[in-house]
Amino acid sequence: MKLTILGSSGSYPGPQSACSSYLVSQDGYNFLLDAGNGSMSNLFGACSPAKVDAIFISHGHSDHWADLVGIYYYCLFAERPLKPITLLSSKAVADLLLEQIGKENLLPVFELKAVDGADSFTLGPFYCTTARTSHSIPTFAIRVESQGKGLTYTADTGESSSVEELAMDTELLLAECTWRLGHSYSGPPLHHDPATLAALIIRANVKKAMITHVAYPNDRLEVADQLRSLVGQCEVLVAQDTISISIDIEAPPVP
Ligand SMILES: [Zn+2]
Repeated sequence: MKLTILGSSGSYPGPQSACSSYLVSQDGYNFLLDAGNGSMSNLFGACSPAKVDAIFISHGHSDHWADLVGIYYYCLFAERPLKPITLLSSKAVADLLLEQIGKENLLPVFELKAVDGADSFTLGPFYCTTARTSHSIPTFAIRVESQGKGLTYTADTGESSSVEELAMDTELLLAECTWRLGHSYSGPPLHHDPATLAALIIRANVKKAMITHVAYPNDRLEVADQLRSLVGQCEVLVAQDTISISIDIEAPPVP
């Protein structure tokens, strides 16, 4: 399983980074997690938008879905996908998209599938489970696995027991860490800082985490160092646009 970072900035693009988008690929199947503003440029470097098989949109903030509109128009006018791209999202996100493109025009580009809570489904080689996060609008985290191994993407969230359960023992936690340590915030859970993310990593027994969605001008390398000082044995990686990481999946036994 290969993860390619297409956008890693939090809330808005940074000087050198698009907003959230992550391509998970295996056996020629391309699964896109979020499509934040600016990320489609980086998608071309990994695969044509028309070669994406499925897209999961975590929630309706534009830094997670805005480039869905660009992907739609590319696939409508420039290169048609062989079959409609499966689009998994809440009804609220689907409505945002339909407002832009019109309901009658959705096919042949997208086929909608609703994600409304703690769901599980199979997509190509992947088994996926979702959980509601703690954020300002309905938002879903997702665990993507093949042969029982894979990654968990937190999407946008503050402290959340359901995300903690979803991430338990995951091989890679792709985790939002919007804020630096000491960020002043007193409302309901909304985003992670290194302290709240460290608590999630320790409680979910995560051994490898990649931070993303760090909001500029917070320095993602400094935020990673702050997290490292709190998590002990967990390896902390930093998402940067266009990097890839392999998540080892054991080959099936030869019969
Ligand atoms: Zn958000």
